[in-house]
Amino acid sequence: MRIKNIRERPISLSDPMSNAGISYLHMTASAVAIDIDAGEKGIVTGYGFSSVGRYAQSGLIAERFAPRLMACEELEGADGGLDPVRAWASMMTNEKAGGDGDRAGAIGVLDMALWDAAAKIEGMPLWQLLSERFNEQKYHKHVPVYATGGHYYPDGDVNALMEEVKGYLDQGFKTIKIKCGQNDIADDCARIEAALSLLDYDGSRLAVDVNCMCSTSRETQEMADAYSPFKLAWIEEPGHPHDFELLTALTKYYDGPIATGENLFSMSETYNLLSYGGLRSDRDLVQVDPALSYGIFEYTRIIALMEAGKWSRSQLVPHAGHLLAYHAVAGLQLGAHEIAARPDFLLGGLHDGVEIADGEGTLPQSSGIGFETHGKLWEVLKTV
Ligand code: MG
Repeated sequence: MRIKNIRERPISLSDPMSNAGISYLHMTASAVAIDIDAGEKGIVTGYGFSSVGRYAQSGLIAERFAPRLMACEELEGADGGLDPVRAWASMMTNEKAGGDGDRAGAIGVLDMALWDAAAKIEGMPLWQLLSERFNEQKYHKHVPVYATGGHYYPDGDVNALMEEVKGYLDQGFKTIKIKCGQNDIADDCARIEAALSLLDYDGSRLAVDVNCMCSTSRETQEMADAYSPFKLAWIEEPGHPHDFELLTALTKYYDGPIATGENLFSMSETYNLLSYGGLRSDRDLVQVDPALSYGIFEYTRIIALMEAGKWSRSQLVPHAGHLLAYHAVAGLQLGAHEIAARPDFLLGGLHDGVEIADGEGTLPQSSGIGFETHGKLWEVLKTV
């Protein structure tokens, strides 16, 4: 069993939305297709699509990781199926420790395509394969989900934000995440109050993502003072992802849950976060994104790392809401899945046929990751 061909194409995600840190007008992602010679099963094609927020990785894929995969002479595992962990080891050949960065996303999107192919070869959805290989055949029968949105738009205002949140409630979501931090604290509070007015003023149903807007402890404390009365589900990414001193100070000052980790890209970076970030295992959430962090194998090591300490895998809530993460949340029994819920966004929504009700999603049944059953993404991927 070996790879016959690897194709990658950068795709524009151009969108008018922005958060406190970045605009999506010039954002790109890598779309990947990998053909596997699966012997009697013929040629099986696995697909990958980068997670959002870190750009296409065409150069790294073309120069280093695709050639190393093509050089792999055998990818069959002990059970006779495709073993993406063997492929992962070959991609990491001659890569020094540390310096994860964009490399982790380049490997992550290739790893995604390999897992898609591996599940297709087994004739099962990826959540089932992950459950069998890594989770003693346990899985979520109902997948906990929340809607993410509430970005800033050039012509946006609080009324438009409320319309957006209403749309997510109509889709069956119970918990919503919105963006704050682009303007002043008064503007943040107006946005939070507007969203809460649609959520029975229940702060446990609203999360707020400030996308690293705070640089000093004074700023985090001002934010905590302003947000505390709302008793939010969590505050996300308060400061720079490597500023553990700032994060520790905030977790000592603010009782409510904090979520972070979407800008950390490996087990070792997660180890540092858990060791030095001051996070509290009884309430805080770790949002490392498997597609940006070397893929599924590294993520299973992160789960093992957390469970070796005092953390539960239910505190893992992966960033971004791509289809790979939905399978990981389901098959590895993670805390919840983030869904980019705006219907017209390229990565928005889930597979056709997956239903959301009461804050939970049903399990997709098509084999692999199921990109073929996500209308918008498949329009792009089928051209690769
Ligand atoms: Mg975030």
